[in-house]
Amino acid sequence: MNFSFSQEQLAVEEKAKQFAEKEISPFLSELEFDLVFRQELFQKMAREGFFLLTVPKAHGGNFTDSLAYVLAMKSIAKADAGIAVTIAVTNMVAEAISIYGSDFQIKKYIPKIAAGECIPLAFALTEPLAGSDAKSIQTFAKTIGEEYLIEGEKKFITNGDLAKLMIVLAKTESDHTSSEITAFLLERPTDGLEVIKKENKLGLLTANLASLRLRCLVSKDQLLGKKGEGLKIALRSLDSGRIGIAAQSIGIAEAAYEAALKFAKERHQFGHAICENQAIAFSLADMKVKLSCAELLLYKAAWLRDQGAPYTLEASEAKLYCSEIANQIAGDALQIHGGYGYVKDCSAEKYFRDARVTTLYEGTSEIQRLIISRHILNATPDAKR
Ligand SMILES: Cc1cc2nc3c(=O)[nH]c(=O)nc-3n(C[C@H](O)[C@H](O)[C@H](O)COP(=O)(O)OP(=O)(O)OC[C@H]3O[C@@H](n4cnc5c(N)ncnc54)[C@H](O)[C@@H]3O)c2cc1C
Repeated sequence: MNFSFSQEQLAVEEKAKQFAEKEISPFLSELEFDLVFRQELFQKMAREGFFLLTVPKAHGGNFTDSLAYVLAMKSIAKADAGIAVTIAVTNMVAEAISIYGSDFQIKKYIPKIAAGECIPLAFALTEPLAGSDAKSIQTFAKTIGEEYLIEGEKKFITNGDLAKLMIVLAKTESDHTSSEITAFLLERPTDGLEVIKKENKLGLLTANLASLRLRCLVSKDQLLGKKGEGLKIALRSLDSGRIGIAAQSIGIAEAAYEAALKFAKERHQFGHAICENQAIAFSLADMKVKLSCAELLLYKAAWLRDQGAPYTLEASEAKLYCSEIANQIAGDALQIHGGYGYVKDCSAEKYFRDARVTTLYEGTSEIQRLIISRHILNATPDAKR
């Protein structure tokens, strides 16, 4: 067993770290409140290749391997989890295009993503009545001549209001009980694609979240993969996406831990640094151990993926554990900051808010336990997430 990273993986991590330190960390308040500023950052990220970290070089991407990808994601998330999720979703969609797209689609879209012409991307699966239970989506696509008419509503779509290109999942059989789902590539502008709500969130303030209404005609050329392959595409994308969210969780947790460690050494009460209290020192020790365990789960899942081995179980284990400990560590880090942790000036407050979503999206913790328990019990894992 080899626990070291390759020079190439470390180079990708270093590039992401330096970018985050120079372009993200100093500008957090501008990035939160100024969309134009944020979009300028997206252009810089496109130039640096961060949106195509999952796409093979033969297709015009910057893929090194999955380990390099998670190291980069972790470094960006350490600086800001909202920017990290924008990168994660865009990479997930770009990867799906490179795997399932036709030659025409790959040649058309990957260069546009590289050039920053259609970033960020979005993945539209969730609906008002279909969250964890993806098979129950009620967006339908029916054939009209050489086109499909897609009708429905999508809820909580990251980059939903900004994306110039998105994957939309819709049912392609008129029978409402059918589970035939097909993936479509939808470009913006498209008539009938409407933002019905921009969501106000607890955290991830640098990421956009929107709900959409669709009544759009799309050409049959816009099918991603084959008719009926949508669920497979969604599930495979979510396996890969979960590794990204696990990396994001570790980035937040590591930042919270480091802030708590620094504060605990600097803050004095009762005549000594608060880290000299065993309660505080042990809390820091527990954070460190949780982080180490979480990293091992994440790297194992990414490594398996790089071997071409099945990794659905390991991706769920990593997503579950990394997101749960991110919440615990962010909470404990805030506690160590005392009242200072509760106010906006303090980074611990941001980590606490940003960590909260990690157990919810890309499959809640309960859904990860469902996937893991089905693997343990050797049943057919057929749930979406
Ligand atoms: C910030 C943010 C970004 C998002 N980005 C995207 C995106 O880009 N694209 C997209 O398609 N979606 C996105 N989502 C949606 C997200 O994936 C869903 O919110 C998530 O899958 C949960 O679905 P739900 O919110 O409808 O909750 P529900 O599925 O209604 O679940 C509610 C509760 O019931 C529990 N539950 C449900 N079923 C079971 C079960 N069988 N056993 C035990 N417990 C169960 C859940 O764990 C949860 O605690 C995003 C959400 C957020 C908050």
